[in-house]
Amino acid sequence: MRTCPWLPALALLACLATIPAAGDDGDEPMIAIAIHGGAGVISRASMTPEAERAYRADLERARDAGYAVLEKGGTSLDAVVAAVKILEDSPLFNAGKGAVFNHEGVNELDASIMDGKTAMAGAVAGVRHVKNPIELARLVMERSPHVMLAGEGAEEFALDQGIELVPGSYFYTERRWQQLEEAREAEKTASVAKEDIGFFSTVGAVARDRDGNLAAATSTGGTTNKRWGRVGDSPIIGAGTYADNASCAVSATGSGEYFIRTVVAHEICARVRLAGVDAAKAAHDVVHGTLAKIGGDGGVIVVDRSGAISMEFNTEGMFRAARDSAGRKEVAIY
Ligand code: ASP
Repeated sequence: MRTCPWLPALALLACLATIPAAGDDGDEPMIAIAIHGGAGVISRASMTPEAERAYRADLERARDAGYAVLEKGGTSLDAVVAAVKILEDSPLFNAGKGAVFNHEGVNELDASIMDGKTAMAGAVAGVRHVKNPIELARLVMERSPHVMLAGEGAEEFALDQGIELVPGSYFYTERRWQQLEEAREAEKTASVAKEDIGFFSTVGAVARDRDGNLAAATSTGGTTNKRWGRVGDSPIIGAGTYADNASCAVSATGSGEYFIRTVVAHEICARVRLAGVDAAKAAHDVVHGTLAKIGGDGGVIVVDRSGAISMEFNTEGMFRAARDSAGRKEVAIY
């Protein structure tokens, strides 16, 4: 960072204006993206080499699509949408195509997005015919006076915005159907309605663009065998998604009810903003402390205002990938 020698007031102001923002090393501003594909991973023991290759390939493709947007000078909002759309279109993840089934055998999708520059946000919950819920969440943010639209109303809004609806059968995958059958079977022997173990492979992305703007996005099918219009943390701003240029951007995955009660994404950003805690430490403390203490499982991806990425989870693994302009480039599961 450049230093300002003693100067008269006006010259001092001019000098300060030339000091790069945090994380921007000299002339090249830091760009960074991190994505996740859920923290409920297939156990190490049952992950086949072919399955692992397929997961890694899609994570890499999504991460690089988002990074390409940033590299061309695009916004963090465009980057997170580009990455999440690829994961929504992949049958491997629990979002868009490949989403889990609810108790009635229907796919109900939730998604949200937040712009760290303006504090604008958009979300949809329980939509059944929207191919890319993250696009609809963005339209809610940009073209409606509301933050969250649910169910049929959200789909009416989608039609108004020119989004083509798809038949429910588009989301079907055999693997998710099997998971529902197993959950229903297990429920027969349980004493209370069982909403399954199944938080599997929700997707999300966080990014910092050249202008220092942060964005976060999350998309999910929720939990296998969910009932009664259940909505998890993913579309809830502050719980599953949050972005604030002054602190960080967060996308979460895990047992949604716990993330809602500990307001995980906002809690991490608030610690950074109010307590001056480093984002990586805030993420670590919230995931392994606050969340774990009440029994919550899962993880988060975080990018802070300087472009530093952290990825924390308290489960066996979390499908994840990251890339930044300082040379970090990784894909990992465990
Ligand atoms: N958090 C999501 C939910 O509770 C599930 C997940 O992360 O896989 O709906």
